[in-house]
Amino acid sequence: MSAQLGNLFILAAPSGAGKSSLIKALLEKHDTADAYPMQVSVSHTTRLPRPGEVDGVHYHFVSRQQFEELIELGVFFEWAEVFGNYYGTSRVTIEQTLHQGTDVFLDIDWQGARQVKKLLPDACGIFILPPSTAVLKERLNKRGQDSDEVIAARMQEAVSEMSHYNEFDYVLVNDDFATALGDLESVVRAHRQRTSKQKMRHTDLLQDLLGDQSTDEC
Ligand code: GDP
Ligand code: ADP
Ligand code: 5GP
Repeated sequence: MSAQLGNLFILAAPSGAGKSSLIKALLEKHDTADAYPMQVSVSHTTRLPRPGEVDGVHYHFVSRQQFEELIELGVFFEWAEVFGNYYGTSRVTIEQTLHQGTDVFLDIDWQGARQVKKLLPDACGIFILPPSTAVLKERLNKRGQDSDEVIAARMQEAVSEMSHYNEFDYVLVNDDFATALGDLESVVRAHRQRTSKQKMRHTDLLQDLLGDQSTDEC
């Protein structure tokens, strides 16, 4: 993928650690006048909608056969099988959104994160840990949207998901929600100020300050 003005943030975590809640809160807090527009990527999935989940808002819900056709068509930027269902991120949507200068947040599993990092090493990988195993289980139960069987399977998968924390640039512990949200904001702000991005964002300023030397490599 060519250089893009927008930043790509990948959030991964074991199910129930709070990544969807953190992304939602971050977007809600975000001021529309902010110089950095941002949006969350809506994945395709073959899992059934939970109560209250809306097609096109939480996920694009498709059948297994439809998903496999989309794989063949090369529609996905990344895709993976998680908990027995397919999940994938649309390539065109990500590319167009980043190209417009909008930051994109991906809520995806470690397999997808690995694929994205390979395609876009500049993407910022953030792993969210729960404060303990007991709390993780409590949150999955309290969310009350999955059956006991599904919760047990997700708890079993949690260790395998968490064993990949080391592949990410940042690790946040979601104990107190406000603190974790503040930490996430700090990471996002810092990542946006990378020299490679500032060079693209501030070409006029650098030209004014440095003239012909503005594009010189140091
Ligand atoms: P929750 O986020 O754990 O509440 O549960 P979901 O059912 O929404 O997601 C299940 C798993 O699929 C999680 O590990 C997600 O990170 C992962 N996932 C969701 N969307 C995508 C995607 O587009 N691509 C990939 N690779 N994984 C995804
Ligand atoms: P994920 O997207 O990682 O599966 P969710 O964002 O759905 O996780 O969070 C799982 C549950 O835990 C939700 O009911 C959410 O409201 C709750 N939760 C998330 N973060 C915290 C926190 N810091 N303290 C208490 N409850 C939390
Ligand atoms: P849930 O079924 O609870 O919505 O999601 C389960 C897991 O699938 C979550 O950990 C979520 O991050 C992951 N997931 C959701 N969408 C995608 C996606 O598009 N790609 C990948 N790789 N994982 C996803």
